[in-house]
Amino acid sequence: MVLGIESSCDETAVALVTSDRRILAQRIASQEEEHAPYGGVVPEIAARAHAQRLAPMLEAVLGDAGLSLDAVDAIAATAGPGLIGGVMVGLVSGKALAMASGKPLIAVNHLEGHALSPRLADETLGFPYLLLLVSGGHCQILSVEGVGTYRRLATTIDDALGEAFDKTAKILGLGYPGGPKVERLAMEGDPKSVPLPRPLKGSKEPHFSFAGLKSAVLRAHESGDHSDADIAASFQQAAVDCLIDRLEKALGQAGPHPALVVAGGVAANQVIRSALEALASRHQMQFVAPPLQLCTDNAAMIAWAGCERLIQTPDFAGDPLDLKARPRWPLDPDAEAVRGAGV
Ligand code: ATP
Ligand code: MG
Ligand code: FE
Repeated sequence: MVLGIESSCDETAVALVTSDRRILAQRIASQEEEHAPYGGVVPEIAARAHAQRLAPMLEAVLGDAGLSLDAVDAIAATAGPGLIGGVMVGLVSGKALAMASGKPLIAVNHLEGHALSPRLADETLGFPYLLLLVSGGHCQILSVEGVGTYRRLATTIDDALGEAFDKTAKILGLGYPGGPKVERLAMEGDPKSVPLPRPLKGSKEPHFSFAGLKSAVLRAHESGDHSDADIAASFQQAAVDCLIDRLEKALGQAGPHPALVVAGGVAANQVIRSALEALASRHQMQFVAPPLQLCTDNAAMIAWAGCERLIQTPDFAGDPLDLKARPRWPLDPDAEAVRGAGV
């Protein structure tokens, strides 16, 4: 059983997960209200909120499960990538607990948490699988070959898709966080009504680009020729078309994979899920999308990544307690740098 801690963005979260996929207890505190007035996450506010909430939350989760730290096999904490102040708060707490209890510390890459979370939800999902990781900070296609073995096939050369959803929401005056609000408004609009670009569609490498799409949304809004619902629906359709085109390209390059998996906050989007499901069925692939609460940031996925590490290496002695938080930490260190791309 692993205790997981997540604090890399605007969710403070703690969870207790067993190697046989049971989430014994978990708590998540979102900071949406604190950041809403600013239209995005403010790093200093996030770090302070994590620091205030984490200690009582750790106690509450152990209390919910009726367990003490003695019962835990290891402590897993997000060590990056993310907002450095928040990551440090969670990692320092993890180190303190590890030191106090004598249990190993497992430093988890937040993206690895997202990447492995579908295996927590679905025990039939084996390696390898093609993973679309779409969140507020990342938009990548990875071939997940095993625990710790991730081959990056594509990334974004500018914005992440969640970011494009959030910016579209801001342009349309919907507020933060934008993804769910754009999706709701899009239900009332016509996805074919506003001509918007499909950046990089048909290009040779399977990379993504969303900055041009966001600018086109801004122009469409300023033109006054379209309803907000039509813009939202057309934006969402353009995003779907880009995802499908790029995934087809990645599959063509990397070869067949038995399963297609989606993870990250944008995976909560139902229209995107259906399009991915259809793509998977065209290619005779199993399709796995974790339940919504496992898609957005949470600690169960961090604890589960710790469980996966322990299953792979049962005598794992723990990561060094002087390990540093990493604001940038690519899952695939061998991936070629792409101009303008994040990790
Ligand atoms: P990262 O994991 O890359 O550091 P993050 O922590 O911001 O980034 P998540 O919590 O995984 O990412 O996801 C949040 C993102 O998901 C936001 O950009 C949000 O707008 C987007 N999102 C959430 N729900 C939906 C939805 N229904 N449709 C589209 N986007 C959504
Ligand atoms: Mg978040
Ligand atoms: Fe995330």
